[in-house]
Amino acid sequence: MADHLSVQKRSWNMSQIRSKDTAPEKQVKRILRRFKINYRSHPQNIPGKPDIVLPRFNTVVFVHGCFWHQHKNCHRANIPKSNIAYWKVKLLNNVKRDRKYSFLLKKEGWKILIVWECEIGHNTLLKKLSHLEKQYG
Ligand SMILES: [Zn+2]
Repeated sequence: MADHLSVQKRSWNMSQIRSKDTAPEKQVKRILRRFKINYRSHPQNIPGKPDIVLPRFNTVVFVHGCFWHQHKNCHRANIPKSNIAYWKVKLLNNVKRDRKYSFLLKKEGWKILIVWECEIGHNTLLKKLSHLEKQYG
């Protein structure tokens, strides 16, 4: 049975995961600007190279693709039906790496805001942001 992503689509996804300023990331920044929340893009010297930092909230933001970072209970995170073993190892390594960095970040005193790509443009993201405002505002 064929993967649910074609090879072409997959290599496009691969290039997206490495590139800065992906479309979801741009959307998140647009929302931050709308809420007048100051952010910095791609700060150096922070573990895990977060996509965005919100200095006022002492928070780092990761914009995660649901598939690559295995969003729990999300249909976008389904593992392809071929090469299952390969994907399991690969994706598990991503998840492990995320955990390692979140541990390091917390140790440095950062709060972590994960924005899943499936949440962008939905109330979930807005709720997460207004929660930050309440905590610090
Ligand atoms: Zn998701």
